[in-house]
Amino acid sequence: MAPAGSVLQMIGNTPMLELTRMDTGPCRLFLKLENQNPGGSIKDRIGLAMIEAAERDGRLQPGGTIVEATAGNTGLGLALVAAQKGYRLILVIPDKMSADKIRHLRALGAEVRLTRSDVPKGHPEYYQDMAERIVAETPGAFWASQFDNPANPMAHETTTGPEIWAQLDGKVDALVAGVGSGGTISGTGRFLKSRNPALKVVVADPEGSVVAGAVETGQVRFEDGSWLVEGIGEDFIPPNLDLSVIDEGVTVGDREAFAAVNELLRSEGILAGTSTGTLLAGALRWCRRQTAPLNVVSFVCDTGNKYLSKAYDGAWLADQGLVDRPRTGDVSDLIA
Ligand code: PMP
Repeated sequence: MAPAGSVLQMIGNTPMLELTRMDTGPCRLFLKLENQNPGGSIKDRIGLAMIEAAERDGRLQPGGTIVEATAGNTGLGLALVAAQKGYRLILVIPDKMSADKIRHLRALGAEVRLTRSDVPKGHPEYYQDMAERIVAETPGAFWASQFDNPANPMAHETTTGPEIWAQLDGKVDALVAGVGSGGTISGTGRFLKSRNPALKVVVADPEGSVVAGAVETGQVRFEDGSWLVEGIGEDFIPPNLDLSVIDEGVTVGDREAFAAVNELLRSEGILAGTSTGTLLAGALRWCRRQTAPLNVVSFVCDTGNKYLSKAYDGAWLADQGLVDRPRTGDVSDLIA
């Protein structure tokens, strides 16, 4: 591989791994390793795409300001690209977010405005409402707005989808993905179905989220649920989620998701984030139900480095009821 002239050129074109040590039933299961993007997640793609789309249509001028309400990987992706391109970035973040995530964002040069986590939509301190106010008060500010910015699904339609098609030589029968903003599943699903209309798109959704139910019943039933996997699961249908692309929903509980990421690390050597647990558990269950030898693709959405003290910590898992606590009280070997 030739040397890259900028870290931005290293976004995308991620490798793909076939799982050979896990029981995938009659299927072959491939994971696209989005943890290998320079910012550590699939969101680098949309950080770059949303900023470059705004540059093209003039919403973002040289030296301008980008605003987003997120503590997650989208913030990191935007911070990476904004720093490289010389933009100011303001991120509005609920105060329950981990100190390490905030350190990482500040170290990349982002301005972090903390706000309350305990207020609902419509409250002036709700993080989305606060971002909207900052945009209105800051001349020349561009609101990235991943939930309804069309550059988000488009990034996956023009990069993630074509990469998968090329890596599997057009032999792909099903896609399993999660929904945060809906960009990944909508854009990747749209591209793959344009090439293979028989391809199945399956959403793997945390228990308590509304997406899988909306796919199965056509109705959004608010569940008042909460889940511990991060980055996916919704209590509404984001504008960027194209439900018509999705054929099936699989619901995955936290216990199964956290077990799956630990098994992925032990058996295949991949340290993945927690949303990958939901996707992998959902994909494995879907694969084992099949009777034909299908090629199935899913994602490692982000690196597990950020979750070492949670998903990969036996005591934390036991405290959350995600693994059984041994009678001796010794939790050190729970996930060994
Ligand atoms: N996994 C992780 C770790 C994420 O941060 C996100 C985005 N929030 C997703 C999966 C889901 O991606 P999308 O926003 O494209 O639906």
